[in-house]
Amino acid sequence: MKDASESPASQGRTPRSAKRAADLNCEVLIVGGGMVGLSLAIALAEAGVSVVVVDRENPATATATAFDGRSSAIARGSQQVLATTGVWPGLADHAEAIRDIRVTEGKASGGRASHLFLHFDASDIDGGPLGHIVENRFIRRAGLARAGELANLELLAPMSLAALRRLPTRVEAELDDGRCVYASLAVAADGRGSPLRAAAGIAVGTWDYGQDGIVCTVGHDKPHHGVAHEHFLPSGPFALLPMTDAAAGIHRSSLVWTEKRDLTSSIMALDDAAFGYELMRRFGMTLGALRVMGRRWSYPLSLLHAERYLDRRLVLIGDAAHGIHPIAGQGLNLGLRDVAALAEVLMDARRLGLDIGESTVLERYQRWRRFDNLALIAATDSLNRLFSNNIAPLRLARDLGIAAVDGVPPLKRFFMRHAMGMVGDLPRLIRGETL
Ligand SMILES: Cc1cc2nc3c(=O)[nH]c(=O)nc-3n(C[C@H](O)[C@H](O)[C@H](O)COP(=O)(O)OP(=O)(O)OC[C@H]3O[C@@H](n4cnc5c(N)ncnc54)[C@H](O)[C@@H]3O)c2cc1C
Repeated sequence: MKDASESPASQGRTPRSAKRAADLNCEVLIVGGGMVGLSLAIALAEAGVSVVVVDRENPATATATAFDGRSSAIARGSQQVLATTGVWPGLADHAEAIRDIRVTEGKASGGRASHLFLHFDASDIDGGPLGHIVENRFIRRAGLARAGELANLELLAPMSLAALRRLPTRVEAELDDGRCVYASLAVAADGRGSPLRAAAGIAVGTWDYGQDGIVCTVGHDKPHHGVAHEHFLPSGPFALLPMTDAAAGIHRSSLVWTEKRDLTSSIMALDDAAFGYELMRRFGMTLGALRVMGRRWSYPLSLLHAERYLDRRLVLIGDAAHGIHPIAGQGLNLGLRDVAALAEVLMDARRLGLDIGESTVLERYQRWRRFDNLALIAATDSLNRLFSNNIAPLRLARDLGIAAVDGVPPLKRFFMRHAMGMVGDLPRLIRGETL
C-alpha cells in the first residue's frame, strides 16, 4: 500500500478511478475492521456520521472457530461502550460474568492449589460483575451484525487499499478493485503491524518479551462460579478465565498460559492428554480434572507504542497505536477506550462545524488517550517483569507489596476500579451516555 501524502508531486493528483460511479464518499474511512475498528465505525455511524470500513479479511473467516481462539476479558467500561452502541445484546448470551479474581503464586503441589495472596471480590465494589469473558469470535459476530443494521456504515471486506493519499483537505483511498473512497479523515485500526502507520513514517517503540501466550479452551469437572484465576509462575502468568458452559453443561475456562518462547514449541507439540497433565501440574485440581477442548494457539508477546497517534488526516487507534502484554487482559479494553474518546472528539468537532480531519481536533484525542495508554503499558510491563522470575528479593518485594494491597480495602478498590476501566476522565460512551 502506497501512502503519497508526503510527496509534493502527488498533492491534488486525480486518482485513476476518481470519476467512476462506484466511488464512495464518506466522512471517516476506517482501515481495519477488527474488534476496535468496527466498534469505532458503529459508534460513529450510530451518531449519524457516514463511515466506510475496509478490511482485508473475509468476515466469514474472521468469525470462524478456527480463526482466533482467544477470549477477551471485557472490563465494565468496555461493556458500557458495547452496550451504548447496541453491540452488547448480540453477545450477552456468550458473556460469562467475572465475580471474583484470585491471584496465586507458585506451582500447585499434591493436587492442592498454591498460596493465595490477592483476592478481588465483586462485593468489595458494588456487587456487579468485575467484567465479562467473551470469545473473540462472538464479539466480532455481534459487531458485524450491528454494523449491518446501520445504513450509513459500509463495510468492504475482504478488500485492501492500493494507495492512500492524505491531501491537505481530504483523504483519497484507492481500493484494490479500482474504486476510490473520499473522506475527511482516515483511521488506522489495522493492528500491531499497521501498514498505515508505517506508510506515514510513524515510529514505534517495541520490546519483545521472549514469551508466547498459549491459548485454548479448557474443560473442567467442577463449575468455576465466575472466578478468574491468575497464577504467577516463574515463566510468566498462567490464567484460567471463566467462560459460559458449553452444550450438555460442560464447564469451560479460557486459558492464557505465558511461557518462555524456547519452550513453546515443545509444549504445543504435546498430545492433548500430556498437555492436560501439564495444565494440572501448574494449576492443581481446584476445578477438577482439566482437558483441552479444540485446538491450541500461540501468540508471540511484545510491547509496542507509537511515538504519536496522528499525522496529516490520519489517526491511530487500538493495537495500531499500542500493544501490551496480556497479563492483565487490557489490550482490547484500551482500544475500546480509544474508540470512546475518538468518537466523542470527532462528534464534538462536527457539532461545532469544524473539519474533523484537522490536526487540532486529532490532538485532543491524542492528549486524552496517550497518558492512559502509557500508564497501562508501564503497569503491565512492570507486572510481567516482577512476576516472570524466581529471584528471591524480587519475590519478597512483590509478596510484601501485594499483601499491602490486599490488606487495605480502599487501595484494593482503587485497583479494581482501574481494572474495570472506570477511573479517570471518562468519555460519554463509557459513562453509558450517547455521543
Ligand atoms: C494471548 C492474548 C490474550 C489477550 N487477551 C485479552 C483480554 O483478555 N482482554 C483484552 O482487552 N485484550 C486482550 N488481548 C489483546 C487484544 O486481543 C487486542 O488488543 C485486540 O485484538 C486489538 O484489536 P484491533 O482491532 O486493534 O487489532 P486487530 O485485531 O489486529 O485487527 C486489525 C484488523 O485490521 C485488518 N488489517 C490489517 N492490515 C490491513 C490492511 N492493510 N488493509 C485492510 N485491513 C487490514 C486485519 O484484517 C484486522 O481485522 C489479548 C492479546 C493476546 C495476544
